Amino acid sequence: MSETRPAATLDARAAATAGAALPTLKSLRARGAPLASTDRQLETVARVDLSRAPFEGDFARTLAAHGWQELRPGAIEIFQINVGKLCNMTCRHCHVDAGPDRVEEMMDLATADACLTALDRTNAHTVDVTGGAPELNPNFRHLVDEAARRGKHVIDRCNLTVLLLPGQRDLPEWLAARGVEIVASLPHWRRRGTDAQRGGGTFEKSVEALRRLNAAGYGKGDPRLRLTLLSNPVGAFLPANQSAMEREWKSGLEREHGILFDRLLVLNNMPISRFLEWLEESGNLEHYLNVLVSSFNASTVAGLMCRNTLSVGWDGRVYDCDFNQMLDLPARARDGSEFHVRDLTAAALAARTVVTARHCFGCTAGAGSSCGGAIEG
Ligand code: SF4
Ligand code: SF4
Repeated sequence: MSETRPAATLDARAAATAGAALPTLKSLRARGAPLASTDRQLETVARVDLSRAPFEGDFARTLAAHGWQELRPGAIEIFQINVGKLCNMTCRHCHVDAGPDRVEEMMDLATADACLTALDRTNAHTVDVTGGAPELNPNFRHLVDEAARRGKHVIDRCNLTVLLLPGQRDLPEWLAARGVEIVASLPHWRRRGTDAQRGGGTFEKSVEALRRLNAAGYGKGDPRLRLTLLSNPVGAFLPANQSAMEREWKSGLEREHGILFDRLLVLNNMPISRFLEWLEESGNLEHYLNVLVSSFNASTVAGLMCRNTLSVGWDGRVYDCDFNQMLDLPARARDGSEFHVRDLTAAALAARTVVTARHCFGCTAGAGSSCGGAIEG
């Protein structure tokens, strides 16, 4: 383990690189950056010397030492559909490597319908639609409509600024009419932290989008119109306590902007994709991995999202979670074969072992982290 470094923040060291450069920041893919390769990402994380960390930073050994010889899934409760990598923003920390240039990876209608057919073969109660900016997929409204018609709880993972784009301005009311929960990402309730991750001017746009959601009835305690905010740390450290942050955010956003929301979820940053690039460039990779490994919390394992969520990619391939999807680590049947959403069988899915690697420490650190926020309350 190297010396302990002070926790660097995106808005400190990276303000110069991330904040100023964000309007022109491109995806790893568009820049031809070495980390555009998912193999390279996995190698980069795996080769960090963690020989002095517990179990040398080996996730499988760490799980086994806590009684989890295999990480096996439970029943599928959440059917998560990633409709593509196209996004109107190019945030510095993005684990998807999304951006305006990612126009090729886009779920088509046939695959969206295959997702709905597969959904009907599960008992999942929730359909979680994500991206990129999922609203930019031409089949987004079809998918949401059909999932809502089936009586599912539908989540739209929204970056807020997308709601201001031409063609999307009716979306708050459209989603409200279908009782869709908005899970809106916002790095921080103050301008500085948000603009450092997402680019100058993002905070103002996000506030405007939140006002529109409030005007459509969201965020005011109606369980059919739940507005959830999602935050991740602006730097190489773990988030503070979710409940305490929620109290601070609620009072800050209402006091300074008159904005209401229902709940706050906090996520750990995963050492993949553009956040991994930032960790490397800022010299924080070894430090951050040591933080994740040394903060392993065994009580989060039962609640890991790979145990109750299925993640389907834009092309119909199936993953244990969205993070594995972004690392191109598909879910595997007992015989080693991959799944496709067209031919999912519940029995084969239930028999699989979750695919893990060192990045998984991002989910088990501290209070734990999942698409539903902290695993421990
Ligand atoms: S973090 Fe979200 S909003 Fe930002 S580029 Fe990635 S998908 Fe888009
Ligand atoms: S990244 Fe997290 S959710 Fe995904 S397989 Fe690893 S532990 Fe499970």
